[in-house]
Amino acid sequence: MPDNLFSLPDPISIPVEGELSTYPVGRIFCVGRNYAAHAAEMGNEVDREAPFYFTKSAPNAVMSGATVPYPPGTENFHHEMELAVAIGKPVFRATSSEALDAVYGYGCALDMTRRDLQIRERNKQRPWDLGKDLENGTVFAPLTRAEDWSPTNDKRIYLNVNGETRQDATLEELIWKIDEIVCHLSGYYHLRPGDLILTGTPAGVGPVQAGDVLEGGIDGLQPIKLTLA
Ligand code: MN
Repeated sequence: MPDNLFSLPDPISIPVEGELSTYPVGRIFCVGRNYAAHAAEMGNEVDREAPFYFTKSAPNAVMSGATVPYPPGTENFHHEMELAVAIGKPVFRATSSEALDAVYGYGCALDMTRRDLQIRERNKQRPWDLGKDLENGTVFAPLTRAEDWSPTNDKRIYLNVNGETRQDATLEELIWKIDEIVCHLSGYYHLRPGDLILTGTPAGVGPVQAGDVLEGGIDGLQPIKLTLA
């Protein structure tokens, strides 16, 4: 085997509650507009036509607890608090029961967004990548195995910035439930271990500034924290 010309940084690997081994981050899929009140605040109609997705690259992800710089190229950097689903076995064209069986675990995540760039590109009917796939732009908290936690409707999902609550909802507001998302997405990808799905954000997204501390949670999961330098 020839040597590589250079080495790449290893992608992060997420701790799992009660496990010595960690969960390496492969592909990151994100669901758009999956809470009705957030779709409305973004000026979009809510529908159940079909879920849609964008992706964020694994090298741009960081672990909860990180301190990261305010990113370049934006004057409207937003927080999006989300439930992340970690796939644990290969699944393609899943049925509903196969979908949930393929889930390894769950965790809190942040889908940080250069909102001004996302909206500018959206309005020009261009891809959103500059708005979404930014360095340090995806944050993962430690995972909890699926046998230890379920995404039931009563679970609260929230995000505080400097101690002030900005996002506060329950998983009941998810337009597409976890099994529906895995079923649908697995019609387009051979999902496999390492694939993570961010399931959308509730209403209340808004700007953050250098010096802000973001702390979020979902009932029963490990909390998430990000500090902006
Ligand atoms: Mn999002």
